[in-house]
Amino acid sequence: MQTPQYQARDRAHHLHPFTDFKALGEEGSRVVTHAEGVYIHDSEGHRILDGMAGLWCVNLGYGRRELVEAATAQLEQLPYYNTFFKTTHPPALKLAEKLCELAPAHVNHVFFTGSGSEANDTVLRMVRRYWALKGRPGKRWIIGRENGYHGSTVAGMSLGGMAPMHDQGGPCVPEIAHVAQPYWFGEGRGRELSPEAFGRQCAAALEDKILELGEENVAAFIAEPVQGAGGAIMPPASYWPAVKEVLAKYDILLVADEVICGFGRLGEWFGSQHFSLEPDLMPIAKGLSSGYLPIGGVLVGDRVADTLIDEGGEFFHGFTYSGHPTCAAVALRNLELLEAEGVVDRVREDLGPYLARRWAELAEHPIVGEARSLGLMGALELVADKAAGTRFDKSLSAGNLCRDLCFEAGLVMRSVGDTMIISPPLVITHEEIDELVRLARQALDETARRLSEHVVT
Ligand code: PMP
Repeated sequence: MQTPQYQARDRAHHLHPFTDFKALGEEGSRVVTHAEGVYIHDSEGHRILDGMAGLWCVNLGYGRRELVEAATAQLEQLPYYNTFFKTTHPPALKLAEKLCELAPAHVNHVFFTGSGSEANDTVLRMVRRYWALKGRPGKRWIIGRENGYHGSTVAGMSLGGMAPMHDQGGPCVPEIAHVAQPYWFGEGRGRELSPEAFGRQCAAALEDKILELGEENVAAFIAEPVQGAGGAIMPPASYWPAVKEVLAKYDILLVADEVICGFGRLGEWFGSQHFSLEPDLMPIAKGLSSGYLPIGGVLVGDRVADTLIDEGGEFFHGFTYSGHPTCAAVALRNLELLEAEGVVDRVREDLGPYLARRWAELAEHPIVGEARSLGLMGALELVADKAAGTRFDKSLSAGNLCRDLCFEAGLVMRSVGDTMIISPPLVITHEEIDELVRLARQALDETARRLSEHVVT
């Protein structure tokens, strides 16, 4: 089929996620037809380096036969059965076992879901249930962060701090508050705070919010170890230690949303390990199956799990696809491959440092105000005036322009406002990182050229 036919059929019946339907209808979708390794192919015959690993999830890269075989074998054996009503099956129990082997020592249970959003719905209900069982039912407030992302279900978007999402389809779930994000380039730099002072200030804002709400009313704090969808925001080194102190002081649970950071992205199995966090709950999804099939879950630390098990009675919560056998079998094989191939260690010891070196070169570019990376996640901040650090006029949509030019150059790089972000498959090679940086530079050059033309005319 030709691209215009694909596009016409797509336009006629398909409503895409996070999309301006009318604008996409006018422009036409890009049609991705197949993929291998770190490359996707479109219906126009282009080969494009997938600098985003799909949506931060294809950690093992595309085209892994082992995952296809794991799915096929499980589909033949037992394609579906549920885990309700005192039932289990080998894929779910084996995956639970493996996850708890990989997780920090205090984490020994998992509740399965179909996605990251469902994982965070589970978190919301589980933390409130925990405190009710502890005889402190007043502890119901959950504090998230402005510009945090925890999914697109009603609970997910309420826990997240994306204002445009809150504005649609509200009201949000009650008793959720948000505090400042540790985004130094966006919110600390302009106030002439050092990153370290700014990190401490954000932790202090959390403490202020706890005191405002009353510590007896606060159940949990939820945050991504590194914010992903908000713009690959690595917190200043002072941030997490200070947050940990605040949470301990007021006996508040920590939920570390590992949906993006989990499964090697930051060079550890979990992002929490990079920052020495000991979260009570860890929502997971995405890289759990390298995105091959939809599966998520919540890793539950002993403190919460023991209470739910010993004192809980029935937890009225769960999904048809909780622990789906085929998804679980693929996830298990994915974890085995990540482990057997030493992928996580390679990200920490080799690929992460290599990307950091090459990525930092882009900081020299005339329209880049900051280039940062951690493990295999990176961001570039686009600026109009490098010396002053000022942003482009919003009407220029510099980020979207750069993203479109990246596609034209043969690279998927995502834009969040004027922040360009990457999160490539964890099996990327040095040569492919070189190519990624070369293509990014080419797109930045062209972005700068177009924007300067725009300013002149
Ligand atoms: N949490 C985080 C940190 C995420 O990045 C995402 C998805 N980008 C989600 C939750 C929601 O996951 P899903 O899209 O699988 O529902």
